[in-house]
Amino acid sequence: MSFLKKDFIFQNVNKLKGVGPQLSKYLKKKRIEKIKDILLNLPYSETDRSKISTIKDLKIGKIQTIKVQVKKLNFPRIRNLPNKIICEDETGKIDIVYFNSRESYLRKIFPLKQWVIISGKTNLFRNNFQITNPDYVTNLDKIDHVVKNIPKYSLTKGINEKKYRFISEQVTNNLPAIDDWLSNEFLKTNSLITWNEAIKNLHHSDDSKKNQSKSFRRLVFDEICANFLTLSENRQRIKRQKQKKFFSKNLSSNIINKLAFRLTNSQKEVLDEINADLLSDKRMFRIIQGDVGSGKTIVSLLSISNVIESNYQCALMAPTEILANQHYELAKKIFQDKKININFLTGKIEKKERSKILENLLNGKIDIIIGTHALFQKKIKFKNLGLVVIDEQHKFGVKQRLDLANKGGKNCDLLLMSATPIPRTMMMSLYGDMDVSKITEKPSIRKNIITLSKPEKKINELWTYLKKQINQKNQVFWVCPLINESNFLDYSSAKKKFDIINRIFPNKVGLIHGSMEKTEKEKILDKFLNRQIHILVSTTVIEVGIDFPNANLIIIENSNKFGLSQLHQLRGRVGRGNKQGTCILLFKDGLSKNAIERIKILKTSNDGFYIAEQDLKMRGYGDIAGFQQSGSKSYRFADPFVHQDLFKLAENYILKISDAMDQKKYNFLLKLFDKAEIINESEI
Ligand code: ADP
Ligand code: MG
Repeated sequence: MSFLKKDFIFQNVNKLKGVGPQLSKYLKKKRIEKIKDILLNLPYSETDRSKISTIKDLKIGKIQTIKVQVKKLNFPRIRNLPNKIICEDETGKIDIVYFNSRESYLRKIFPLKQWVIISGKTNLFRNNFQITNPDYVTNLDKIDHVVKNIPKYSLTKGINEKKYRFISEQVTNNLPAIDDWLSNEFLKTNSLITWNEAIKNLHHSDDSKKNQSKSFRRLVFDEICANFLTLSENRQRIKRQKQKKFFSKNLSSNIINKLAFRLTNSQKEVLDEINADLLSDKRMFRIIQGDVGSGKTIVSLLSISNVIESNYQCALMAPTEILANQHYELAKKIFQDKKININFLTGKIEKKERSKILENLLNGKIDIIIGTHALFQKKIKFKNLGLVVIDEQHKFGVKQRLDLANKGGKNCDLLLMSATPIPRTMMMSLYGDMDVSKITEKPSIRKNIITLSKPEKKINELWTYLKKQINQKNQVFWVCPLINESNFLDYSSAKKKFDIINRIFPNKVGLIHGSMEKTEKEKILDKFLNRQIHILVSTTVIEVGIDFPNANLIIIENSNKFGLSQLHQLRGRVGRGNKQGTCILLFKDGLSKNAIERIKILKTSNDGFYIAEQDLKMRGYGDIAGFQQSGSKSYRFADPFVHQDLFKLAENYILKISDAMDQKKYNFLLKLFDKAEIINESEI
């Protein structure tokens, strides 16, 4: 079969010879639905069948190839006995054994007295060499088809190597010539190779195993570009025309004047950037990045006040009830006596009240709605939503973020906030060319959290210290890596630690962990916020965003188990009021050099961006808190850490082309990575 048209590769695999409904089903499990998916299903290794061995030299358990003469065919008439073909070469005898195979078929491929090539795994049975169900049997004419390195693909039940090879070779041996969408000049300057060449090498050499081989890098570059193109396409749709907002900033100035603190310069700059977006005729698509405690919330509320002044509604969404509620309380305080109608909506709100809220959102009586993702259910409609703010945005998926942009209609601006410092190289792959505002400065009254370390065997020295803290009405977090005791892991568990601490400080301790009911968790957090308990023993479940003004001590057990950024975010739970915060890192003896280095970084720096960078250097992208959830899974081949240079290259490339995108050329690329549909789907 020859593929004259490149569009052929976007057809269903059942267009290939030998692929029926059953096999299609199996292939689908391996993410192979279209013919192009066969190209993207790279071999993970190769089997060396290139050397012909003599029977005498066969090694048990290895895949080998032999050239033998068919001596005798044995088809027992008793059920369950296998068919057996006895073969020979100059050096010895071997049995080829088949279970469940048709006699006529075997007679055809094993003609008596003829020489054949057989390839498969050798075993020993009653002191005889034997190959059971060989992978390949062929006559000497077709020797070249088998006696070579054969790519090995990971397969699923229902497809064996031979069958898959029969299918895949129809594609890989007949590749259509694709007009490369990258220019020769670009390829040359950036040491990339053509798509045609890359795909060929990936299936016919061991290039696919090396993530820095030229062929693999080309595929990675294509994948990144496909992703970026989609994101920037989406963004262009988001960033289209809207009505400008009009406001005098009277309201926001009034609020600023009444604040108990002065905005930092960094907060002011970010606010200016947002205001410029609001006043422009392009929809805003901006993310505020700022370390824990840098004061993102007030910036968002001031932006909200400007949008309200422009006679639009605003929505502020947080990932949990407690955080949403804190924002609600703060908003009520800030907007008091301003004749602004603020409401709170979560999944828990009663039906009657809920319908009232829905009604008032639709008729425009509500100016600000604050809540959890309950806010964005289909039923909820706004009269004229002008701004959506999403706090701790990494808790929400890419799809949800796009849904939100939809929700607001064409005049709605979008503002995201995140405490997870994402390095610049990563921003693009997560958000496309979204605008970023960074709050780089922390409120000057905020004291740096004092970070200490202590070996766990000295844990008893802590009790007097804790007692003192509690007497001073301070509150304490105690963090353990596990919920329950483990027989396998030598880590501290929250439940056991709760028992121990509860004995020392009866009625003053609470326990919270991830396998508790959500309502149960919120009850405990409320108790802690209302100072009914003084020590909260927990796993890492507590949201970083929540303000615990009286908590000023956090103790983290087995601290070497946590990543740098995670530790930084954990300690950010304390010292958010005006008291000095302290973090004590407990560790077991015999720390690795790496762990010692990490503790040192935390002791010397309070800068989340710097810490994230160090984390990156030491452990790679995968471990940055929140990163996993926020989109690294959108890559099948590219690794943001290993292929950093290609991410940068792709970013520059996309920025240059996105204005005048040549649909035809890039459609191929988008379709190759199943991106075309995403764009159609998200009608923004
Ligand atoms: P985050 O950026 O982590 O969301 P928040 O917005 O919750 O931080 O702010 C943390 C605390 O800092 C809040 O209690 C807030 O009132 C306070 N805050 C915000 N901006 C300033 C400032 N410029 N000066 C002093 N305190 C501030
Ligand atoms: Mg926050």
